[in-house]
Amino acid sequence: MTSTERSIAAAEEHSAHNYHPLPVVVATAQGAWMTDVEGRRYLDMLAGYSALNFGHGNRRLIDAARAQLDRVTLTSRAFHHDRFADFCAELAALCGMEMVLPMNTGAEAVETAVKTARKWGYRVKGVPDGRAKIVVADNNFHGRTTTIISFSTDPEARADFGPYTPGFEIVPYGDLAALEAAVDEHTVAVLLEPIQGEAGVLVPPPGYLAGVRRLTAERNVLFIADEIQSGLGRTGKTFACEHEDVVPDMYVLGKALGGGVVPVSAVVSSQDVLGVYRPGEHGSTFGGNPLACAVALEVIAILRSGEYQERATELGDHLHHELVRLTASGAVTAVRGRGLWAGIDIAPSHGTGREISERLMERRVLVKDTHGSTIRIAPPLVISKEDLDWGLEQLRAVLGS
Ligand SMILES: *Cc1c(COP(=O)(O)O)cnc(C)c1O
Repeated sequence: MTSTERSIAAAEEHSAHNYHPLPVVVATAQGAWMTDVEGRRYLDMLAGYSALNFGHGNRRLIDAARAQLDRVTLTSRAFHHDRFADFCAELAALCGMEMVLPMNTGAEAVETAVKTARKWGYRVKGVPDGRAKIVVADNNFHGRTTTIISFSTDPEARADFGPYTPGFEIVPYGDLAALEAAVDEHTVAVLLEPIQGEAGVLVPPPGYLAGVRRLTAERNVLFIADEIQSGLGRTGKTFACEHEDVVPDMYVLGKALGGGVVPVSAVVSSQDVLGVYRPGEHGSTFGGNPLACAVALEVIAILRSGEYQERATELGDHLHHELVRLTASGAVTAVRGRGLWAGIDIAPSHGTGREISERLMERRVLVKDTHGSTIRIAPPLVISKEDLDWGLEQLRAVLGS
């Protein structure tokens, strides 16, 4: 047995099978590259679903974490700590908003957004108690908690986890008329991904986000943008909403906010909205801890330079130019995305998404399939053009085009 086989067998025996990882066992990583336990190097074209936008072992982020490790790592919110105010102020400024509520994982931030919208609905909008409604889109992915999967349309994510949380209405993504019809006097929020990541990197039709903004503003409904995967540089902008010059009422952030070092998530909004909270009404033991704040502050500083947004735009243009050429070969039926982010539908004649992912792994490129026939490409934004081209060459080779 190789050490890879031993590791995988032990993982299969002792961990719940809620994932089906590719058979590679990573030992170390740097930049856009990962090295497995047998010394083989792989190009990371997934970047932890965008949690690793700034690459593995990013020097600035590791240094920020290391410096904080020697000072203080956890206080709980029972006390103030000296990185908290800066983190909240800097993140609010990056978002052009006023207030921050820090959590840890993306799902917790989405839960926080849901709770915040409901509380705002009762206390500010005047919705009768227990009647608040939140409108969401089909094919959404907002996380894995009981409430969040209650408004999922993915049978895998949802089946056998009921009873489900009420208070949500699901409309087709990208359909403004359907959204308009669903919004009523009890609606407190519309919760959307500006680009649907897990669904296969679905970009809504032009004008959709701007239309959602107009409608929600007219009806006194909060527009909540889940930018956990689309935000923080991935699409070439700090926020994917910017592509339509849209500013939502609330950003939900996670993944890259923790720099691939620690989980950091947050809800960012106005004083009117986040100001609804009183002590004791919501919280998290780890939310906004000193280590998380130190790393996220460095992430924010990196984003402020605009350097990675620019890379995502330039390399993304190149990526999409190359991918569109693959559709001509017949191996690929559709390519979607924005910036350094793409969903590629593989023609059934050329294999499933999983099979393509496995063949790419044999060629030392790591990607992840989604929904059967789609593979997703989202390398760290630090990737060089040469490495990206090499990765695309491997993709062309496995597709035989
Ligand atoms: C990953 C993701 C989440 C959930 O984040 P976790 O940290 O896995 O809980 C929520 N929304 C979107 C859009 C995501 O991509």
